[in-house]
Amino acid sequence: MGSDDLDPRSSGGDVQLIAPKLADIGGATVRRVLPRRGRRTVGAWCFADLMGPSDGPGVEVAPHPHIGLQTVTWLLDGLIVHRDSVGSEQPIRPGQLNLMTAGRGVSHSEEAEPGWTGRTRGIQLWVAQPEATRWGAPAFEHHAQLPQVELDAALATVLVGEVAGAASPARRDTDHLGAQLALRPGRTVVPVRSVHEHAVIALQGDVAVHGTVVPEGHLGHLAPGIDELVLDVAEDAVAMLLGGEPFADELVMWWNYVARTRAEVVAAHADWTAGHDRFGTVATHLPPIHVDPPPWSA
Ligand code: MN
Repeated sequence: MGSDDLDPRSSGGDVQLIAPKLADIGGATVRRVLPRRGRRTVGAWCFADLMGPSDGPGVEVAPHPHIGLQTVTWLLDGLIVHRDSVGSEQPIRPGQLNLMTAGRGVSHSEEAEPGWTGRTRGIQLWVAQPEATRWGAPAFEHHAQLPQVELDAALATVLVGEVAGAASPARRDTDHLGAQLALRPGRTVVPVRSVHEHAVIALQGDVAVHGTVVPEGHLGHLAPGIDELVLDVAEDAVAMLLGGEPFADELVMWWNYVARTRAEVVAAHADWTAGHDRFGTVATHLPPIHVDPPPWSA
């Protein structure tokens, strides 16, 4: 974390502007907009990496573990094959949702389709699970089709939760929502619940949120207390809208684990390192990823 956390454009109105931080995932550079200094969560959403655009054979991330979260994978371009320890093998294409629930433990890989080459662009999100489900069984859902609703100059595709009466069938453990907004030039007003906080992530093009420009690759956050979002774009743009009731629990996040205490993270990582059946196995030729334990565990 460095001085890039502070963006001089963050002074506008009630929108908190978050600049991305570059991170390396399996040799590919991603733009991370969550968690960032000053913005750890948006509802239960606790992690957001923008992938690409990159051209080539696609993503290759070897098996790695998760606890206490759901992964939400969403593509604007490309093809990724998901494999996990629940037994899933599921290609995902633009407009489709892969939703994996880790609970007490899961492992998975993200792989290129053999022979496929092209442009990869998308977003990888995590949702923190609440106490009621975070020790539960792992699970996976694929949704090839999702509800859509027209809003002024936008087409909303609802991944999770509900927007303007369109409700996603995807599993939801807390009161949160996620929707892609394909925005056409002009103004779009999105009705929202005032108990929710919201974030608009500009995936393609710049998006003005309540008059504050959220540049492509940035996140704009709005606190609870509003019942509509006002979005303006000059050219076609694509945004990811996130929302939810502010998450009550303090999260401890390290590597691929979302927990409440460091002890939970240390225990999970010891289990992964030991090959404990808590994380199962993934049917793939790729060897599992192992990293050193957290520096504070010694
Ligand atoms: Mn993962």
